[in-house]
Amino acid sequence: MYRLQNEGYDAYLVGGCVRDLLLGREPKDFDVVTNADPEQVREVFRNCRLIGRRFRLAHVCFGREIIEVATFRGAGEEKNDQQMLNKEGRLLRDNVYGTIEEDVWRRDFTVNALYYNIKDFSVVDFVGGMADHKTGTLKLIGDSDVRFREDPVRMLRAVRFAVKLGFKLDSACEQAIHNDVRLLASIPCARLYDEMIKLFLSGYALQTFEMLRHYGLFDVLFPATEHSLAVEENGFPRLLLIKALENSDNRIAEGKTITAYFLLAAFLWEPVRIRAKEKIAQGQVEFVAYQDAASEIIARQIKSTALPRHISMAMREVWNMQPKFNARVGSRPSRLIRHPRFRAGYDFLLLRAETGGADPELAQWWTKYQHASENEQRKMTQPPRNPNNKSARKRSYHRKPKDSSAPSES
Ligand code: ATP
Ligand code: MG
Repeated sequence: MYRLQNEGYDAYLVGGCVRDLLLGREPKDFDVVTNADPEQVREVFRNCRLIGRRFRLAHVCFGREIIEVATFRGAGEEKNDQQMLNKEGRLLRDNVYGTIEEDVWRRDFTVNALYYNIKDFSVVDFVGGMADHKTGTLKLIGDSDVRFREDPVRMLRAVRFAVKLGFKLDSACEQAIHNDVRLLASIPCARLYDEMIKLFLSGYALQTFEMLRHYGLFDVLFPATEHSLAVEENGFPRLLLIKALENSDNRIAEGKTITAYFLLAAFLWEPVRIRAKEKIAQGQVEFVAYQDAASEIIARQIKSTALPRHISMAMREVWNMQPKFNARVGSRPSRLIRHPRFRAGYDFLLLRAETGGADPELAQWWTKYQHASENEQRKMTQPPRNPNNKSARKRSYHRKPKDSSAPSES
């Protein structure tokens, strides 16, 4: 920012970082806006890359850190969309870039539209963002319905910020979500996937889930899950997902990593399980039923949010492993434990056992099996002897001296 200023440009911090700093929180990243256009920014910084086609942005790299430097956006951008596309993406600078006074109207919430000016260390506030910040209110700039129609993803952003900041949506915003919820379905699946990841992997997954449901937004993201939640079975269906959300929030709080596929596997487990159950009732073999159900549910889900292939593959692996945990005899357990995703599958089994979806004894068996010595593992997976079979009893008696030479557990 000082470098830009020294070159005679204006530079401000804007958006989430100003908002978060005012709350005494550590910002996730820093967004800079300037009146220099992207080419001019590139002239100032050697360590700079221009990205974006429709709206060019400068990425300035400091070591591993990337600072996004945007040029003020102009008011006329929308009107000129057609014109810009006709020119094969070449932007008409005068129409796209603007002044700070124009830029502010392009932002979503008043608390996201505060500009920190390094020239005099002041916060520039055109839209009453400071007052809303003090009262903890999320308020859209301008008419809420218009702003949601412009970009329905703002509804998801509203929930994300409300949860993260502990803010309330103002009544106009709430009402507009109520009116416009269905518009979200028109957003490309890939963008919804990205936004959904931000919603659920930021450490407040459980609260986010509850609030999305409250506003009817969850149904747009996960229709099959929403549907399955309505069919309660002894209170179990909702528990697995809630527990998974809770666990992942706890892990983030403890500084541990979480994976998107595990949480997504939890989101869609009930739909998969219900579908597999139907297939089994129709006479399908359990393992095949789960595989087919997984394919169907994933095919349905990607109509709502995209699922990158590596994610859906991993989800399937976690699901397909579940019926395999029932086989505890012979060589199958030792093969399963060597599966590259065994850990995730096992964690998922624990989750099911904790929430009434699997026998806790089964989960305990797998916990013990994992930590057992090879010798013990072999014993654990031996077929049970039939006490009525005399010859078997005799054989076992004869083997006894040999067995007793093995290290005793006591
Ligand atoms: P986070 O803490 O998640 O980074 P943020 O407010 O910085 O929150 P970003 O997505 O990084 O969110 O966007 C930076 C700023 O750009 C926002 O604060 C907002 O002013 C503006 N902005 C981003 N997305 C939109 C949008 N869809 N509509 C309007 N303004 C947006
Ligand atoms: Mg940001």
